[in-house]
Amino acid sequence: MKALVVEPTLTYKLLLQSLFNDRSCETVLVSSGQEGFAALEEISFDLVCVALHLEDMTGIDFCQTLRAEGKKTLPIVMMTSDEEKRIFEEGMAAGVTEIFRKEDLLAITKYLTTFKAQHLAESRLVGTVLCVTDNVPLSSLLQTQLSRMGLKIEQTRLGEHAFEKFETSDYDLIITDTLLAGPMSGFALVREVRQGPLKKRMIPILVLSSFKDDGRKIETLRSGANDYVSKPVLEAELAARVRNLITNKKLLDQVEAQQVRLEEMAMTDSLTTLYNRHCLNEIAPGYISEAGRHDLPLSLVVMDLDDFKHVNDTYGHNAGDQVLIQIADLLKKSCRQEDIAARFGGEEFLLLLPYCNGQDAAKKAEVLRRKIEALEPNGIQVTASFGVCQLPGGNLLSFEEIFGLADKALYDAKNGGRNLVVLSQEDEGF
Ligand code: GH3
Ligand code: MG
Ligand code: MG
Repeated sequence: MKALVVEPTLTYKLLLQSLFNDRSCETVLVSSGQEGFAALEEISFDLVCVALHLEDMTGIDFCQTLRAEGKKTLPIVMMTSDEEKRIFEEGMAAGVTEIFRKEDLLAITKYLTTFKAQHLAESRLVGTVLCVTDNVPLSSLLQTQLSRMGLKIEQTRLGEHAFEKFETSDYDLIITDTLLAGPMSGFALVREVRQGPLKKRMIPILVLSSFKDDGRKIETLRSGANDYVSKPVLEAELAARVRNLITNKKLLDQVEAQQVRLEEMAMTDSLTTLYNRHCLNEIAPGYISEAGRHDLPLSLVVMDLDDFKHVNDTYGHNAGDQVLIQIADLLKKSCRQEDIAARFGGEEFLLLLPYCNGQDAAKKAEVLRRKIEALEPNGIQVTASFGVCQLPGGNLLSFEEIFGLADKALYDAKNGGRNLVVLSQEDEGF
């Protein structure tokens, strides 16, 4: 960041220099208005700091001249010991951005700190912009301006080509001219994008328009554009609008990612990353009614680790957790894509197996029982008991009722000595 200080007094000049330098801002120090203009001719500054009383003119005249010469957006702050309201009004009318009392170093420091933070945030903009125009000067203006902002740019002359690129790549913003070389205009491109792939269609679009009338401007926004910049393009306006659109897009992306994460968190168990009980209660009824409607087999396996309290008591709770994680990994690996594996409670797991009858589910449980017996997770010998039940044919039961049947079979497995698979009585001979 670079600042021009136009200040006749040496002491105050050095004071400002140290304030700026403390905030890693380079300074060029001059005493008169003319020296100031000369410096501005040669160097591009981010901020100008000017005193009210200069050797050759007033700070107000200095500012007025700069604004008249086209430096409309360069921030100019003025320092004065004069407290007259008239000075303030004249300064503002001349285009001064902020006026500070020379003695009020705290206010100046605060302004600089905020300005620097804003400047840093601005230079850190990250994103890719798709620019669509067949106008060569405009295309090079976009290239210069956007890359100065830190953005990546892809350019194309045709609306059709832009739409293909939009479908196949990810962008953070589309900037399009209204009239394009090919048959697809900028407006048509906006409409196509808004009806494009669901996850991408809300991309921000900025239209560059040479139409001056208000009706056209409103029509542009109604067509689905988020914003427009009138031609000839004012660089600072373009930069500000692009910044707003990209910042909003990034915020929206963050909110969406957070939403996905929250949904995942609500549906999965944080220790094992298996589905949780809440999720199972949500999805199991759908599986059950689907199986009932098409008369397809569906089985439920409830699995409970044996004497797990003893594992915790002997090896500690952390070791117990590791055992649960490794058992869960084994369940995940043993499941087909359509199977649902869930942690139903502390050391109790559940498998929902579509297209699988009770006999096959019991066989699968038996394989799991042996694998767990042989696994020795965290070096600890563990076993599990299983209750298996099939959705009874022709008899639509609720998830709770089916779970009750499997749980009763599990109870029988525990009573039978543990490390056993028991198929619910209701399924025998099915
Ligand atoms: P049974 O063979 O009859 O099932 O005996 P058990 O000891 O496995 O059953 P019980 O219900 O008496 O104890 C379950 C134990 O599981 C007690 C509890 O501390 C432990 N447990 C539950 N959730 C967790 C967990 O997230 N981590 C750990 N390490 N232990 C858990
Ligand atoms: Mg247990
Ligand atoms: Mg238990």
